[in-house]
Amino acid sequence: MMKITMNGQSVEVEAGQTLLQAARQHGIHIPTLCYHHQTGATGKCRLCLVEVEGMRGLQTSCTVEVRDGMIVKTESDAIRSARRLVVDLLLSSGRHDCLACERNGSCELQDAAYELGIERPTFTQDTTTEIDDSAEFVYRDHSKCIKCGRCIVGCNQVVSNEVLDFGFRGHDTKVICDDDLPMGKSSCVQCGECVQLCPTAALIDKKSIGKGRGWQLDKVNTTCPYCGVGCQMTLHVDRKRNRVIRVTGRDIAPNNGMLCVKGRYGFEFHASPKRLTEPLIRKTANWFL
Ligand code: SF4
Ligand code: SF4
Ligand code: SF4
Repeated sequence: MMKITMNGQSVEVEAGQTLLQAARQHGIHIPTLCYHHQTGATGKCRLCLVEVEGMRGLQTSCTVEVRDGMIVKTESDAIRSARRLVVDLLLSSGRHDCLACERNGSCELQDAAYELGIERPTFTQDTTTEIDDSAEFVYRDHSKCIKCGRCIVGCNQVVSNEVLDFGFRGHDTKVICDDDLPMGKSSCVQCGECVQLCPTAALIDKKSIGKGRGWQLDKVNTTCPYCGVGCQMTLHVDRKRNRVIRVTGRDIAPNNGMLCVKGRYGFEFHASPKRLTEPLIRKTANWFL
């Protein structure tokens, strides 16, 4: 253990922790977009900037490890103005029409813009309008991608499916499947891990489109009914229509957020008219039936 000073308060931290982890452990909020505890630190989005005494310029708190005696500020005018610019540029580089967006109300980019008081993007940039509707369960909207890389790490290192990567260069950089194939023609197994990790509406569960915003749906925790692994999941339920709208993996053992294609997308059977609602009792039976 060691001691650092954060926003004027002395706090105990563990050696090897990053400033971001230490701040979160002590209830100090630092906004992030590319960081996710499943996919780790990349320092890509530059939103988690902090001031560290003795270090030049602002530092990305997700990549700087704590050192004994460090003096850190997580809020200041300079930090806020740098964070505002980061979010402004991200919003400006995409097509972020929140009113019509599936993730309105459950989008980390929107949350960051709200927190920083950004009403609309300052800059105008040519942006892609590329949509990939080729896959059975995952809908891709490149215009809402902020290139955080979470989906790529999730696909390659969390679920080890090795489908996604960044392709092309500079302004043309985008997330590609295999050698830039449409997702539906690629080696993607539609596990949906990338959708669960995406902070924006760049990746969406196709089955849930237009069926309700996140906050309108009740969350019901349960165990996947398919195999013996016993994956823990949350059903997002429309009570009025008595329908499951989407399924997400819970971040606990044994699956730590992951689900397979059956668990995540094979949920409509609960409303099948063929489903047994009363027990069947065989009244006559013999060895040959
Ligand atoms: S992805 Fe987020 S910021 Fe972009 S339009 Fe949708 S809700 Fe708004
Ligand atoms: S759905 Fe699964 S396999 Fe397909 S790209 Fe996403 S994480 Fe990779
Ligand atoms: S698709 Fe989503 S998770 Fe992947 S890089 Fe774009 S914003 Fe990040």
